[in-house]
Amino acid sequence: MTSDRPFHPSRRAFLAGALAVGAVAAAPRAWLPAAHAEAGPFVLPPLPWERTALQPVLGATTVDIHYGKHHTAYLNNLNDLVKGKPVAQMTLEEVVRASAGKADDVAVFNNAAQVWNHTFYWNSMRPKGGGKPTGRIAAQIDAAFGGYDAFREAFSKAALTQFGSGWAWLVKKGDKLEVVKTGNADTPLTQGATPLLTIDVWEHAYYLDYQNRRKDYIAAWLDSLVNWEFAEKNLG
Ligand code: MN
Repeated sequence: MTSDRPFHPSRRAFLAGALAVGAVAAAPRAWLPAAHAEAGPFVLPPLPWERTALQPVLGATTVDIHYGKHHTAYLNNLNDLVKGKPVAQMTLEEVVRASAGKADDVAVFNNAAQVWNHTFYWNSMRPKGGGKPTGRIAAQIDAAFGGYDAFREAFSKAALTQFGSGWAWLVKKGDKLEVVKTGNADTPLTQGATPLLTIDVWEHAYYLDYQNRRKDYIAAWLDSLVNWEFAEKNLG
C-alpha cells in the first residue's frame, strides 16, 4: 500500500491482503485475487497505476470513489455473503461461473462479477495508452473487423448504446474477436467468451469528469487509456 491513496481498501481487505502474502495464487490469471480461506476470503488487488495517473482523461476523484467506494463495496458485500459457505473456498472466477444464472445466488453473482469486472477494467487501462494497437492483437482486430477504424466504431457503438448501467467488451469467441456489451454485472466470462478488454459505462465511471457525455468518455478512453498489452496478453 502506498500512502498517496486516500481510499485504502477496508481494514479487513488490507489484512486479508497481508495474510495472503505467500499463498499460492489459485486464480488462472495472476492479477486476479485468489481465494484464501483464512482471510476475507477475497481481497482487493491494488490499482495497477497511481490514482492520478489517468488524468486528465479520468480524474483522481473518479478513481478514488470508483475503486475506494464502489469496487471495495462489492468486495465487502461478497465477503459477507460467502462467509462460512463452501463457495468461500473457490477462486473469484469460479464463484462468478458457479453463481451465474442461479436464482438463489443473484447477490453472490452480482457482487462477485462486479469485483471481477472492475479488476479487469483497471487493467484494461494504462497511462499514455490508447490509439491503434500493434502486433498480434492488431492482426486479429484486422481479421475480425477489417481494420482498427471498424473496430473502434463497433466498440464505441456498443459502449454508447448499452442502455443504463453495464459494460462494453472486446472478447475472443472461438478463434475470432468480437465486440459485446453486457448489462449491470453481467460478464462475457459466463457467456462462452474470453474477455480481452472492457470499458465500464456505469454512470459512476465517468459522471464526475464527463457528466452526461458518455460519448466523450468513450472517445477519450479509446484515444488515451486502452491497454493493448493487456488485451494481447489475454489472447493467451
Ligand atoms: Mn464501475
